[in-house]
Amino acid sequence: MIPKDHPRYRSLVARERLARCAREGIVALEGLAAHGRGEAFDYLIGEKTTGSAALAERTAAAMLLAARHAVISVNGNTAALAAAEIAALQRASGADVEVNLFHRTEERIERINRLLTEHGVRVLTGTPERIVPLSHDRALCLPQGIGDADVVLVPLEDGDRCAALREMGKTVITVDLNPLSRTARTANLTIVDEVTRALPAITAACASLEPGEGERLIASLDNTYLLRAAIDEMRERLSHALE
Ligand code: ATP
Ligand code: MG
Repeated sequence: MIPKDHPRYRSLVARERLARCAREGIVALEGLAAHGRGEAFDYLIGEKTTGSAALAERTAAAMLLAARHAVISVNGNTAALAAAEIAALQRASGADVEVNLFHRTEERIERINRLLTEHGVRVLTGTPERIVPLSHDRALCLPQGIGDADVVLVPLEDGDRCAALREMGKTVITVDLNPLSRTARTANLTIVDEVTRALPAITAACASLEPGEGERLIASLDNTYLLRAAIDEMRERLSHALE
């Protein structure tokens, strides 16, 4: 049992959950290392949603609601950390949910589908095809899912796949705590926030956008500004770290 008053309670709970999901074959061992990189950057933004991340989350809500066909692409880490949050975002945005894995096996896909379904997610299923311009199994996605989407939300994505989705002409929204990653710099919109804070914030924004606000947010989207604001936040915190 992790004591509730531990200063790193949330982080310890997340690690415990990821370790359990790794043992169950939902999270790839590589995913544990990727989470550690994320945690380091979360430390630097103060483990909270910054003002610029909140703006990005509102903009993401506007883009999902304005899409012809929005799809949330879910990997093992995202499913392990945020299955219930994905279900709530699906209800609020009407987006489809598709499981898409870097370390793909049919068994892992099956386990993740089951975990998501248990938390109320309606998961797209079908026969995947090699649609994304990448080698090997990373090209696989559902023709009626990511294959057909105009807007794709891909939390915790790899840089290559993010670039390949953009090459296909899709609008890519990502959640990535590292503002320097290739994913962060390649996506149309990058939310520099922890995934369990980001998804509920997008869900809340879906229900609270004022008339006309969504169009304004989309028209003024400037991802370089958002990334710079995240880096500024980290630099500012570092320069006062020992005061
Ligand atoms: P890229 O391929 O985009 O250059 P990378 O190779 O450094 O990035 P990947 O392992 O491909 O990293 O992707 C994982 C990304 O997800 C990392 O940048 C990490 O910062 C981020 N990340 C990990 N866990 C979380 C989390 N819980 N919330 C938000 N972001 C996270
Ligand atoms: Mg990568």
